[in-house]
Amino acid sequence: MNTPTLLSNSSYVVVGGGAAGTLTAARLLLEAGRQHQPVRVTLVDPTPIGRGVAYSTSDPRHRLNVPAYKMSALTEDGSHFHRWLADHGREVAEADFVPRRWFRDYLCDVLEKAKCWAPSAVLEQREASAVDLVPGEFGATTVELSTGESIAADAVVLALGHLGVDRRWVPAPIATSSRVIRDPWAYGALDAVPPNADVLLVGSGLTMIDLALRLAAPGRTIHAISRNGRLPQPHLPGVRPGMEAPEFSSPTPCLDELLTVMTNHAAKARNRYGDWRPAIDSIRAITQRLWGGLSETDRIEFLTKHARTWDSVRHRMSPESAASIDRCRQSGQLVTHTAELVDALDLGDSLEVVLSGGTALRVGAVVNCTGPCDRPERSEVPFVRALLDRGVVRPGPLGIGFATTSSGRVIDATGSSDASVWTLGSLRKGSLWESTAIPEIRDQAAALARCVLTNTPVPAQR
Ligand SMILES: Cc1cc2nc3c(=O)[nH]c(=O)nc-3n(C[C@H](O)[C@H](O)[C@H](O)COP(=O)(O)OP(=O)(O)OC[C@H]3O[C@@H](n4cnc5c(N)ncnc54)[C@H](O)[C@@H]3O)c2cc1C
Repeated sequence: MNTPTLLSNSSYVVVGGGAAGTLTAARLLLEAGRQHQPVRVTLVDPTPIGRGVAYSTSDPRHRLNVPAYKMSALTEDGSHFHRWLADHGREVAEADFVPRRWFRDYLCDVLEKAKCWAPSAVLEQREASAVDLVPGEFGATTVELSTGESIAADAVVLALGHLGVDRRWVPAPIATSSRVIRDPWAYGALDAVPPNADVLLVGSGLTMIDLALRLAAPGRTIHAISRNGRLPQPHLPGVRPGMEAPEFSSPTPCLDELLTVMTNHAAKARNRYGDWRPAIDSIRAITQRLWGGLSETDRIEFLTKHARTWDSVRHRMSPESAASIDRCRQSGQLVTHTAELVDALDLGDSLEVVLSGGTALRVGAVVNCTGPCDRPERSEVPFVRALLDRGVVRPGPLGIGFATTSSGRVIDATGSSDASVWTLGSLRKGSLWESTAIPEIRDQAAALARCVLTNTPVPAQR
């Protein structure tokens, strides 16, 4: 390990350069510029900035799942993304679902602009993975990178997105088969899918939708399985009416009341607008409070009985994706099954997979669409294991994500939040539930940057 570089200005390290890390770095620069603070922000990611899992795709069929008018990177300027699109020759309606690659261009531009607004600040990038994080004296923390470099930081922001992939669904006989694609988002992962071969997608959420669109080809049948067989609901085109949030008997109702009130609220929306979606969208602003008020028993019941249904109505696909998926289903290119993968055999030139119910299929590849691992204790990612082993973090409520304070400062294994280590986005899902999409991430990034700058001990204290 190299000797950590101690910097004269405050040094902030953001680990992860997906949407959350990019927006955090931009906000740190903007806030430092506003306060005329000389700071150094180091953004660490082995992959190019602004992409992460969602925005690395260059496939034009992969569209945002949220209309352009809701995707501003800046809470205080809701139409920023829509205007940016127009300024860059992409004239679209505000309710359009635009290709996701446009959003990554936008994120990179937001970061570039933030650099210009903060002449007192320096942004550095490291094309590397963080492999360890060592808390030191006086609040300083050392981040160790895969390149061998060590960076001393006054504050570290963990913007890791997720904690790797879940492998528990893979039947033992094919656990090591190269025909099982465990991380479909890894660069080049889909190259392992043999041309023309049928494919099994395990999972039926938005990742499955992306992959079905990507892999659909004449002569190939794509099978998608999930325990409830439910696909994400489609968004309807156009700007949807805003509906008031439902009223509860208290700010923190129990799960039974929540389910009853939401059922009635959806019926009200159907009567008023001819559609249930405004009711679902109406609780977005209070979802974190509702989740925070549920007892542990209620949260577990929600997770085991209702979360999949909630995800299918809350995390909807664009109307364009829905139309393409409908076409694939009608032509027989995509077949959905309500089933689990119970057994499999590697035949060398293909896999034989057996679904619950007894259906056997011969496929060229099995692709994991079960979504990312969200439990640190199950994570096989070395950096996450190092964070746990050092006690820098501890799992959040129900074991999901990291435990944090209300401002996103991580709580360590002893229950202390003294270290200047922060996180945002899906790693706060256990505490907040609604914490994975841009509207929440942009708010958290802005609030976190203010807190980090306020809470950072001045360099002289080291
Ligand atoms: C297919 C898909 C479509 C989506 N569409 C939308 C949408 O339309 N609108 C919306 O609001 N949200 C959407 N989302 C939600 C999406 O998760 C968020 O918008 C956002 O992309 C999350 O960004 P993130 O930075 O938290 O995580 P990620 O995108 O996962 O980025 C994390 C980054 O951290 C890096 N990293 C991880 N570990 C390390 C390490 N040890 N060292 C260095 N770097 C590390 C990774 O390389 C990665 O670049 C979508 C999600 C998916 C999966």
